Amino acid sequence: MAKDIALVLKQVDDRQEELIALLKTLIRFETPAPPARNTKEAQSYVADYLMSLGFSIDMWDVYPGDPNVVGLLKGTDSDNHKSLIINGHMDVAEVSEDENWEKDPFTPIMRDGVVIGRGAADMKGGLAGALFAIQLLRENEIELPGDLTLQSVIGEEVGEAGTLQACKRNGGAKADFAVVVDTSDLHIQGQGGVITGWITVKSEKTFHDATRRNMIHAGGGLVGASAIEKMTKIIQGLQELERHWAVTKSYPGCPPGANTINPAVIEGGRHAAFVADECRLWITVHYYPNESYEQVSGEIEEHILNVAKGDMWLKDNPPTFEWGGTSMIEDRGEIFPSLEVDPENAGVQMLAGVHETVSGQSAVIDVSPTVTDGGWLGAEGIPTVIYGPGDLKNAHAVNEQVSIDQLIQYTKTLLTFIYEWSHTKKENSQTGSRTN
Ligand SMILES: [Zn+2]
Repeated sequence: MAKDIALVLKQVDDRQEELIALLKTLIRFETPAPPARNTKEAQSYVADYLMSLGFSIDMWDVYPGDPNVVGLLKGTDSDNHKSLIINGHMDVAEVSEDENWEKDPFTPIMRDGVVIGRGAADMKGGLAGALFAIQLLRENEIELPGDLTLQSVIGEEVGEAGTLQACKRNGGAKADFAVVVDTSDLHIQGQGGVITGWITVKSEKTFHDATRRNMIHAGGGLVGASAIEKMTKIIQGLQELERHWAVTKSYPGCPPGANTINPAVIEGGRHAAFVADECRLWITVHYYPNESYEQVSGEIEEHILNVAKGDMWLKDNPPTFEWGGTSMIEDRGEIFPSLEVDPENAGVQMLAGVHETVSGQSAVIDVSPTVTDGGWLGAEGIPTVIYGPGDLKNAHAVNEQVSIDQLIQYTKTLLTFIYEWSHTKKENSQTGSRTN
């Protein structure tokens, strides 16, 4: 069997034109998010592709025009062998008017050993590598005893629930390991988390601008406040907490102070003729891999409510909090749960070993400086890593590109890993030892 795999791996080199053509095909589907709602064709292509390789397909609209595709290839002895989920997102970063691309971002070009086009690095390269690896295994009739699931999801770039839905549907996704094939420059990565939130300061009554004198001067007798002015105290409180976190928390592999609280957007007041009766602050919170969004949002609420207790008006009109959301473009909120990688996990060790064999270089296990959908799979209790081609300086960039050598190496690693993992016995398996 091992000899067969060597022959299949050689085909990755011999048939690299097909791999590149597949990547170009994926790039040609224009799937930027925002505006989103444009992945139907691309997702149908993936569904057909997987179906032709023997997968059963579950495809449904997360939003109209943005369907998820989950393909399952049932293992030949899945009760006794380990299962794997491969996850990738079909949407790509938006292209703004002023971006100065060498060529149209959705007309891929190949030169100097790279493929250039929107999504080449983030993350149609990873998807192409995964699909091609599966195609070669299937065409060569390589037996896969464990279940193999491919989730092609939507909405990652705008914090939408593509992966979350794929994980919750049909009683919940289950697997012994998951690989998110997003941009990692072939590092095996976990990630910190992100949650956005809205903090609202609201006055029960609306006062005319002319009453401001009575609110702020001796003898005025009117207890009231500008919600905008009160919000400045809350912003100051957030900065104090951010600094406290920076000096008290850390995580190996994350730069100190990566746990930030960004006051990103502020909205407030209704008209110059009134005292502002409402102010809303949109914040973005980054936290470490060993923290949860429930925990950090709880810390923020506790601190800000204590700040409010020290203010004569806020103590009676405390701020309110709304956390997360399911889309940055639908309800202006998102959550990316954090993901910790256990270097001792059998899947992590196997992937690292295969990476070293294929590349001849030691595997790097570290923390992504950005966020992916990996946290949702981890939240389901599935040991998960981010492992994909392309680097972050290219993700979302003008003339986004991926190295063809790296893509080939990636495809070989993933192909070998799928094979090896699928042939690994489950711990509770009763049958004989693995034969190779
Ligand atoms: Zn991505």
